[in-house]
Amino acid sequence: MDYREVTGGREFVARLDHGRDWREQIEAFAADEGIDAAFFFGLGAVQDAELYFYDQDEKTYFPETFEEPLEVAACVGNVSHLEGERFAHTHAVLSRADGTALAGHLNRATTFAGELYLREFDTELERAHDETTELDLWPL
Ligand code: ZN
Repeated sequence: MDYREVTGGREFVARLDHGRDWREQIEAFAADEGIDAAFFFGLGAVQDAELYFYDQDEKTYFPETFEEPLEVAACVGNVSHLEGERFAHTHAVLSRADGTALAGHLNRATTFAGELYLREFDTELERAHDETTELDLWPL
């Protein structure tokens, strides 16, 4: 395991905008505030969602789209740089009216309502290609 000690910086709470993409508005917020590394937690509801599942044998993401209202029962993610842009790596557990859950890597979702807590770190993280997994990971 590779690691790096970091010191917590600013903390934020935010209300996500209705109708905007869940992940993109976190990235826009991070860019506006100059946040180079952070972890965040969120909850709320979305009007649709596209989840990715990473196939470990094929080494590729498979998308699954859901065109229905969903609760964001839990959302966790981090902010770092990917190809020079801020990237909010976002995972979510989404629930349906009957309480069943969908979960995965959240690529996009139209926000109905959302609340976010974000903690910045005093470092910069730039993702780099990892040959073992073929994913863009933190080179710590
Ligand atoms: Zn992911």
